[in-house]
Amino acid sequence: MSILFEELVFGPIYSRRLGKSLGINLLPQTHKICTFNCVYCECGWNPENTAEKTKLPKKEDFEKALEKRLKEIAGTTEEPDSITFSGNGEPTLHPEFADIIDITIRLRNKYVPKAVISVLSNGTMLHKEEVFKALSKIDNNIMKIDAGTIDMIQKINMPNVEIDLNRYIQNLQRFNGKVIIQTLFLRGNHNGNRIDNTTEEEISLWIDYIKTIKPRKTMIYAIDRSTPEKDLEKLTVAELENIADKVRALGFEVECFG
Ligand code: SF4
Repeated sequence: MSILFEELVFGPIYSRRLGKSLGINLLPQTHKICTFNCVYCECGWNPENTAEKTKLPKKEDFEKALEKRLKEIAGTTEEPDSITFSGNGEPTLHPEFADIIDITIRLRNKYVPKAVISVLSNGTMLHKEEVFKALSKIDNNIMKIDAGTIDMIQKINMPNVEIDLNRYIQNLQRFNGKVIIQTLFLRGNHNGNRIDNTTEEEISLWIDYIKTIKPRKTMIYAIDRSTPEKDLEKLTVAELENIADKVRALGFEVECFG
């Protein structure tokens, strides 16, 4: 069963990576919109009928919804550790994303100054300067790299846009370390293709990207919830820790979520 978020501002919910997290869904409430179609996406597959009229919230509606919720929870036990953009797809696809980040920073400073702002992104909009600049302003800019080879990225993330891996890594380098890399490790099968981002070749290339980008942190994790492709294997914590140790040995911080 896939999970779709039915509100613009939802929670706080407990997030294994971010603690008490007030969620923001800038995408439709009825279906996912994403430039990827990951085999493990908890929102399910992208809809086949893309002709469906898509209405995204306006920044004014977002501001009202966020301010209302922050007023309710500021100073209570529900006060969030993080205001987190995730939701039903890729948040940076929203055409007003940069303004929305500015609004969020202003409201965070006013109502919940201790909370961080986090964006979980697949990074496919990083070539847009306004998206890059907006992500540079927040605390947790969490970008996805799910494999070492472009072939395995295609198999895991199934992008519906062209991916230039070298350019993507260069864009991540531009954050000068003010970026967190997120990677989901898994094995399995999809559409007759073997999926495995844990082979020596995949891990070795992936570690090269970490060395190039020098992120302030890397988050590696295993499947947690129901996935659209069922033939996928959840890695053990020991396997994740083994991968993490290779990166730690190079002096980088890694968190594992098994
Ligand atoms: S990038 Fe995120 S939202 Fe998009 S398909 Fe992958 S897991 Fe789902």
